[in-house]
Amino acid sequence: MAQLKLKQRLGDLLVGEGIISDEQLGLALKEQRSSGRKLGATLTHLGFITEEQLLNFLSQQLDIPFLNIATLSIDPQSVIKLPEVHARRHRALVVKAEHDVLTIALSDPADLNAVEAISNLLSAYQLEFAIVRESELLPAYDRLYRRTKDIEAFAGQLEDEHRPAQEFDIFRDVDDASSEATVVKFLNSVFEDAVQVGASDIHIEPDEKALRIRLRVDGVLQENILNEVAIVPALVLRLKLMAGLDISEKRLPQDGRFNLKVRNQSIDIRMSTMPVQFGESVVMRLLNQDSGIFQLESTGMPADLIKRLRGLIRRPHGMVLVTGPTGSGKTTSLYAALSELNEPGKKIITVEDPVEYRLPRISQVQVNPKIGLDFAHILRTCLRQDPDILLVGEMRDKETVEIGLRGALTGHMVLSTLHTNDAITCALRLMDMGAPGYLIGAALRAVVAQRLVRKLCNQCKSSHDLTSSEHYCLEKMAKAPLSDEQFYRSVGCQSCNYTGYRGRIGVFELLEITDAMGDALRRESAAEFEAEARKSKHYRPLVLSALDFAKQGLTSIEEVLKLADEVTLDDRNSESDISMDNHHSASVSVSDTAVSNTLGANIAAHVRELDKVDNVDVENILRLVEAVRSLDRSGQ
Ligand SMILES: [Zn+2]
Repeated sequence: MAQLKLKQRLGDLLVGEGIISDEQLGLALKEQRSSGRKLGATLTHLGFITEEQLLNFLSQQLDIPFLNIATLSIDPQSVIKLPEVHARRHRALVVKAEHDVLTIALSDPADLNAVEAISNLLSAYQLEFAIVRESELLPAYDRLYRRTKDIEAFAGQLEDEHRPAQEFDIFRDVDDASSEATVVKFLNSVFEDAVQVGASDIHIEPDEKALRIRLRVDGVLQENILNEVAIVPALVLRLKLMAGLDISEKRLPQDGRFNLKVRNQSIDIRMSTMPVQFGESVVMRLLNQDSGIFQLESTGMPADLIKRLRGLIRRPHGMVLVTGPTGSGKTTSLYAALSELNEPGKKIITVEDPVEYRLPRISQVQVNPKIGLDFAHILRTCLRQDPDILLVGEMRDKETVEIGLRGALTGHMVLSTLHTNDAITCALRLMDMGAPGYLIGAALRAVVAQRLVRKLCNQCKSSHDLTSSEHYCLEKMAKAPLSDEQFYRSVGCQSCNYTGYRGRIGVFELLEITDAMGDALRRESAAEFEAEARKSKHYRPLVLSALDFAKQGLTSIEEVLKLADEVTLDDRNSESDISMDNHHSASVSVSDTAVSNTLGANIAAHVRELDKVDNVDVENILRLVEAVRSLDRSGQ
């Protein structure tokens, strides 16, 4: 075993090397006595030495390497040689296992107690040590000590108990209590794993030969395949019991919700079941009730936009809409806006389907069409409850829109969401839904459009030189030459699970309805409205806000082009039913509309395609030109 012992006490060594002064050491020791913290931590806390300096110093003194966890390729099989509870307690991690030699990374190798405890626990191995930052260690635990092994073990155990008997076994106990307990343990592990990686949804999908458990993390599904198909009925049964569903009904979809305490967090789970060919598929949405206060600042909204939005929602009446596709973060933004208005002096009522987060002091009403409680019906009642602010989960039909608009004209601030592509389309959609232009013109104050783009992983992102067609496309979008900004691309490393991205950030556009826009709405002139909106000085389309993030190195050009793609794609959807799959066979001679429909849509793919081929053919050029043209139309 490597001898991990400093020649002198850490403080004396640091003073001896002239890194800190005697006086600083004295102060730190005094502080240490009252805080009980370790000396190293106290010194960095007092700012006498940086964490980097301290770790480099310890690395030299102890002659052990200083490692960067993100750049290591760590095998989870090695990690579990040291049980999680000990790893966390002693701030240690097995980063390498070769034959009988384990490399243990420690955030404080000067902590002799920790070194001794680990040496005892792993006495069967030869140990080598290394030093790592504590800040890297903590997220690594969440990532590496996954529940995958537990899940597989429980699944195996359950499979044995639930495999259909080949021969009839008269002694087989169907209501086996131990089996029940294994189901619970299995599900617990699944939930723990999901919470640990910050998943928003859990999908349980039975297939003919496998059970797929997929977790949605940062908007993308991650798959875990188990071979134990026979356990599905027991799992589904248990989940249905938890959600209070009818367990005898297996042919119809059902939905319900329940609450769980996972890793000390209160998680609200919305569950939906659906019969599929090999059983029932279950999807659960995880809503973390402890995830903190909703704040506009944490949505990614730029400060100037927050300021303008605050001014708008604080007016005594009017309607403010948030728009975007499912999963674009609309609800979070809406709750953040609502939380700002949530004061004792204001009466707030929400009408939601379903109620996602529970907020103090606010009356939240759940839509329930089965008993006639639809949006319109509840809304009418709400207006008689003397609210100052009303939140309508979604504007789904003409009646809801009209009641909402009238409410907004009669002294209420009405907040709601609509499912459209951008802010301009959103205002026009109200008209398409049958609301009279004079109502919209008078009541609508502003529309916020929103998307989420993935954030590049800071550990592995690498600089990216624009290809000529990316450059061309981006300049067209920005309507301005690009200066020599530095862009980054995704790579993939351990800390981002080899996706290249970690977390997401909101991209916003805010359209304030000016008098001129209001007039155009009153006259029900879509063209005039659009022209006025594009002229308005604060209006900045979503794609450009995403480009700003790319310029700051927060996201990649790929994400920007993907967003541009979605924004233009949806516009086309309503006009054409030509499938995207057809575009390879689309010939140059197809009509103009067909060209723009099929070709304008998939910008990112075309740009990549163009960069690949040497002999750019006419068709490809046409695609790119159309892509850019459609951006010009929809954009700025
Ligand atoms: Zn990474």
